[in-house]
Amino acid sequence: MGNSRMRVLIIGGGFGGLFCARRLGGVDVDVTLLDRAAGHLFQPLLYQCATGTLSIGQISRPLREEFARHRNVTTLLGEAVDVDPQSRQVTARRPDETTFTIDYDVLVVAAGMQQSYFGKEHFAQWAPGMKTLDDALHIRQRVFTAFEIAETLPPGPERDGWLTFAVAGGGPTGVELAGQIREMATRTLAHEFHSIDPEEARVLLFDGGERVLKAFCPELGEKATQSLNRLGVELHMGVHVTDVRRDGVTISPKAGGPDEQYAARTVLWTAGVEAVPFARHIAEVLGAETDRSGRIAVEPDLSVAGYPEVFVIGDLAGRENLPGVAENAMQGGLHVASCVRRELAGKPRKPFRYRDLGSAAYIARGQALLQVGPVKVAGFFGWLAWGFIHIAFLAGIRNRFSTVGTWLVTIARASRSHRAFMLGAAGLPEQRYTWTTWDALPPPPDSSPERDKT
Ligand SMILES: Cc1cc2nc3c(=O)[nH]c(=O)nc-3n(C[C@H](O)[C@H](O)[C@H](O)COP(=O)(O)OP(=O)(O)OC[C@H]3O[C@@H](n4cnc5c(N)ncnc54)[C@H](O)[C@@H]3O)c2cc1C
Repeated sequence: MGNSRMRVLIIGGGFGGLFCARRLGGVDVDVTLLDRAAGHLFQPLLYQCATGTLSIGQISRPLREEFARHRNVTTLLGEAVDVDPQSRQVTARRPDETTFTIDYDVLVVAAGMQQSYFGKEHFAQWAPGMKTLDDALHIRQRVFTAFEIAETLPPGPERDGWLTFAVAGGGPTGVELAGQIREMATRTLAHEFHSIDPEEARVLLFDGGERVLKAFCPELGEKATQSLNRLGVELHMGVHVTDVRRDGVTISPKAGGPDEQYAARTVLWTAGVEAVPFARHIAEVLGAETDRSGRIAVEPDLSVAGYPEVFVIGDLAGRENLPGVAENAMQGGLHVASCVRRELAGKPRKPFRYRDLGSAAYIARGQALLQVGPVKVAGFFGWLAWGFIHIAFLAGIRNRFSTVGTWLVTIARASRSHRAFMLGAAGLPEQRYTWTTWDALPPPPDSSPERDKT
């Protein structure tokens, strides 16, 4: 380091990276925040963007704007692709595929997780996941297009397939998406079509467990089940989704028995996550242990064994009892910033202690769950608490006000202001008029019937 300031490189501007960089703003260190996207994304509200309630601008904030006032924080757009722990250097790729390097004294890996298809990557062809803004816009395009195509078809099995939506995964994201599609069909779209009745849209939710929302206590899980039933979501528990095709899914009961086929032209995948490719790479280079999903084993202070200058935080931190939730990432980011500040003050690091501040999940309008220690709230009061929590952590004052405003309008008028989607540019021969770019590609290599976990 010599006489120069300590250089802290943070990879990922999600919840962990954002909170770490914020806490180091104004501290006597040089911080570089590198992200493959230009903005911080508030993933918990992605489903509202996917179903037309919120815009992409309302759930994301440019990192450059966020840190404009911190002179010691530099934000860079690029994807980390390589690390050299000896020379303490990370190589990043620009969007034009050229590369550049960044030196560090402290490296914070906060690159998060991506959707996992449990080795059946070809499912992604027909079943988009939901982790990024691109995913949300893709889902929006597919869901609204399905209703539009159905409107042009005569009654019959083909039209029914377009009006059937299958969601794999009964965790918070699957529940939120399934509930929103039904709510959209029964409120927003109910009176807008002439040929079809959007209220007849079927939403099927598949999960391998016995009930939805396993992270919540059984009592709240039961309340969620009742709300989903009232909304008209068809729950299929104890099943694996074992195939996804252009026109439907195959379901295999966990307890054995014959497979079932469901015709559905829209399939959405929320069933699992795995480490992003850079996390797998860095674990290999550092010789760090990983779990099945690729989370990197960390020491009590969140550093990697043998590399005290490398921290892993958030969803990627593999340590017992650290959940994949925003609160863990935020606390991890603050902890690493505190380690850096203590080092500057010549004090030893402290171990990371995660404080569980509870969980919340949205089910439908006026219905949400909140579980904080022994406190369990469902229904309207859960919904209010859910709203306050989400607004409190949304980045940017402007986003908070505009989101509350949009919610109030949506509640009062059942309308959704952000339904715009694209279907390829007219006049450009290389861009086809379609919601899928896959038709032109050769068929997937293998659709082996091996079971996966949902
Ligand atoms: C749809 C959805 C709903 C959710 N709902 C909730 C909820 O209600 N409550 C809750 O507590 N949690 C929720 N979560 C989980 C929560 O969002 C995550 O736990 C949290 O975002 C993890 O933070 P992180 O900083 O580890 O990673 P992330 O927030 O995922 O951020 C990772 C960042 O790293 C960047 N990145 C990745 N690879 C690279 C690379 N190679 N180079 C540079 N940058 C890279 C990404 O662009 C991203 O900005 C939800 C997640 C999803 C997907």
